[in-house]
Amino acid sequence: MSTYKELLFDRSFVNGEWTNQGTEKFDVKNPFDLSVIGQVHDEDRTFVAKAIDVAHAAFGSWKSKSAKERSAILLKWFDLIHQHKDELAQIMTLESGKPIVESKGEIDYGAAYIQWFAEEAKRNYGDVIPGFTADKRIITLKEPIGVVGAITPWNFPLAMIARKIAPALAVGCTVVVRPSEETPFTALAINYLANLAGFPRGVYNTVVGTDPSEMGKELCENKKVAKISFTGSTKVGKILMSQSADTLKKLSLELGGNAPLIVFDDADIDLAIKGALAGKFRFGGQTCVCVNRILVQEGIHDLFVEKFTAVVKKMKLGSGLDTDVNIGPLINQRAIRRMEEMTQDAVVKGGKVLTGGKAVAPQFFEPTIIVDANESMEFAHNEIFGPIAPIFRFKTEQDAVRMANDTVYGLASYFFTNDLNRSWRVREQLEYGIVGINEGLISSEVVPFGGVKESGQGREGSKYGLDSYVDIKYVCIGGI
Ligand code: NAD
Repeated sequence: MSTYKELLFDRSFVNGEWTNQGTEKFDVKNPFDLSVIGQVHDEDRTFVAKAIDVAHAAFGSWKSKSAKERSAILLKWFDLIHQHKDELAQIMTLESGKPIVESKGEIDYGAAYIQWFAEEAKRNYGDVIPGFTADKRIITLKEPIGVVGAITPWNFPLAMIARKIAPALAVGCTVVVRPSEETPFTALAINYLANLAGFPRGVYNTVVGTDPSEMGKELCENKKVAKISFTGSTKVGKILMSQSADTLKKLSLELGGNAPLIVFDDADIDLAIKGALAGKFRFGGQTCVCVNRILVQEGIHDLFVEKFTAVVKKMKLGSGLDTDVNIGPLINQRAIRRMEEMTQDAVVKGGKVLTGGKAVAPQFFEPTIIVDANESMEFAHNEIFGPIAPIFRFKTEQDAVRMANDTVYGLASYFFTNDLNRSWRVREQLEYGIVGINEGLISSEVVPFGGVKESGQGREGSKYGLDSYVDIKYVCIGGI
């Protein structure tokens, strides 16, 4: 493959073929300069229904293959993604604005799920249970759940797809992926590579369109879909849950977050700053585990602010294709407006902007630090999803825990301390699915990723990641 352009496809992939029903195409834009990268055929609900039919028809033969056969195809797909890493990274950066170094990191991260679940597929063990009378023998089997509808966001155009469909495909499910309309090219390119790897027709389908609401309704309401796996906002997660009620569809939901990062007086301040930088500014703050609130104890507050501000002031904005850029553009104008409104709201309520605070044309927002943050401000309760770092001051450990838990979200949390006893106490009290202690980077295929409260349900990755895609069948053999 010589250029990324050879991996830009202009229509959906269904039943092993590039296919379209919609005659209209829509533009996919580069958030860096708003130029058009390419166009894709815009599909609707009826097209999604056809893809579901195809996936449903392919289910029987795919689940009948041995785990080893499925695993071999997944591993080949993993290899092909690595072979095309440079082209995929370029596509990802062009359509999402993500700095190229982070795009390459995402490809490694996302592909690692494919390798992991290719291995786990072979260990999809059941149980042998002692019979409840002498003449009975009991076993349990873990069987693939059926057709999976995967709905994914733009902020991890490859990894969020891989994290869902690698375990699904590994255990024998078939999939219909509906990627974000902002980043369809990465999704189509990896489906193309999967096809080269040898997935049979109809096993892995990608449907692209600009009406997520109608496409989502089809996935939720169609009886042939057994399961919805969604990553995105809590607002949309709730819509999908209510739409799935009629068919009692199983749901995995990876939703929004409001991550606190707590720095105690006894912390290693340089480690805390490193963690805060990685946790806050990765992809310009546009990840679900990004730090939303930095809570700093009063004894270390001023020094932390001084050192943190000095580093943030040096961050470079620019095109994601430049390797020395730290912060690329935000995904769209809506995101810019949200940053402006949150900054304004904080200033009106007593916050002080130490650096940044302004939009830069066409689609950037400066890395921003706001001190004297308080709980009346909007970002205390809502996801920022951009490069604003609000710093709250606190007095006691109890204050910090109370503030950290004062949110409907419960995805990631972080704290920095050198006190062993405190590290146990605080870990136990944080109402979050993920806790990073003296660490700001917590994602990996080997760990169970997911949230509590309104951050969702289910876990992706690790040995638990297969559970979402299997049903347990209990078999009782009598008369022995
Ligand atoms: P979003 O909820 O607006 O969109 C996510 C996906 O759902 C997109 O493909 C979108 O087109 C689609 N969608 C929108 N409305 C829909 C509807 N009514 N029915 C069906 N599909 C619909 O979120 P976003 O702005 O794309 O992504 C950012 C959000 O995703 C943030 O809240 C972030 O925290 C969350 N996120 C969570 C995780 C996680 O693992 N928990 C990971 C990444 C992003």
